[in-house]
Amino acid sequence: MRILVTGGAGYIGSTATSMLLEKGYDVTVLDDCSTGHADSLDPRAKFIQGSLLDIQTIKSALSDCQAVMHFGAKSLVGESVEKPELYREVNVGGTKNLLAEMSAAGITKLVFSSTAATYGQPKSSPISEDAEALPTNPYGQTKLEVDHMITEAAKSGLAAISLRYFNVAGAFKSQSGWLAERHNPETHLIPNVLRATSLDPLKVFGTDWPTPDGTCIRDYVHVVDLIEAHIIALQKVAPGNHRIINLGSGVGYSVAQVIAAAAKVVTHEIPYENSPRRAGDPAVLVADISRAKTELGWAPTRSLEQMVGDTWESQNARA
Ligand code: UDP
Repeated sequence: MRILVTGGAGYIGSTATSMLLEKGYDVTVLDDCSTGHADSLDPRAKFIQGSLLDIQTIKSALSDCQAVMHFGAKSLVGESVEKPELYREVNVGGTKNLLAEMSAAGITKLVFSSTAATYGQPKSSPISEDAEALPTNPYGQTKLEVDHMITEAAKSGLAAISLRYFNVAGAFKSQSGWLAERHNPETHLIPNVLRATSLDPLKVFGTDWPTPDGTCIRDYVHVVDLIEAHIIALQKVAPGNHRIINLGSGVGYSVAQVIAAAAKVVTHEIPYENSPRRAGDPAVLVADISRAKTELGWAPTRSLEQMVGDTWESQNARA
């Protein structure tokens, strides 16, 4: 079975590509390499460099495929506030093209990379899929619009699952080496904690949040657990049905707890300084993962220490 992986040169898409190949699937990657890295591409995959805004490119990428895992998107919250039109064009417009071409080619199976950013500021915790979706930035808004578009497409027979990620972390070691998280600029906590030096300490965004230690709480899930859920989802999609399923660990860790876990991994203290709160951050974001457990039969197995440890190894391997 050949799967089209859009965004297969990115952090999560490249991990999906290599894990699918290692499970015996054939993979075609479609990526414009605008934010992905060509050296993350698995050499065993067929690679098409191009955009979801180009119909001919999508047509050739879909050739011989029986299903799609759709990761390709613009995904920086801050950038989405500055360039909402770009986010609408790529995330919504690109997916509209993809769905139209899948339909034209008779391809009915889709697993979509959605996000907890669709929920916005949570009214209660943990967050279930039935929580009201009120995104607070254009990134979350465009992902929500795509979820709605997929629900519509399912009415005409599409078999789809949207997976709403909480904080994805860790790294996967493929046959050709570590697939590291390499965003530029890097805004995510775990890579930043591991890069902190006494000259450039980690900035802890807020120590006066209404949490036990005053720092923000997030739900971290290992990228390998996350992709295992995608591969199960691919087998569980049902014609005419669109399910939305949270992926997280169901457990929250504070920024201070992540710093402590990282200090254990690197065996020295992490240099940090207290900074003001970052605009738009909610105090606590934790997933209710009961739907993933019951409908996918999936539960994450990798700990926070493993996420930090694998990120550390992948950063060192790439250094
Ligand atoms: N954070 C921090 N310093 C950093 C990066 C992140 O204190 O350099 C905090 C951030 O305010 C949030 C948590 O770490 O509470 C996770 O942030 P991240 O950007 O990794 O993910 P988000 O939850 O924003 O998607």
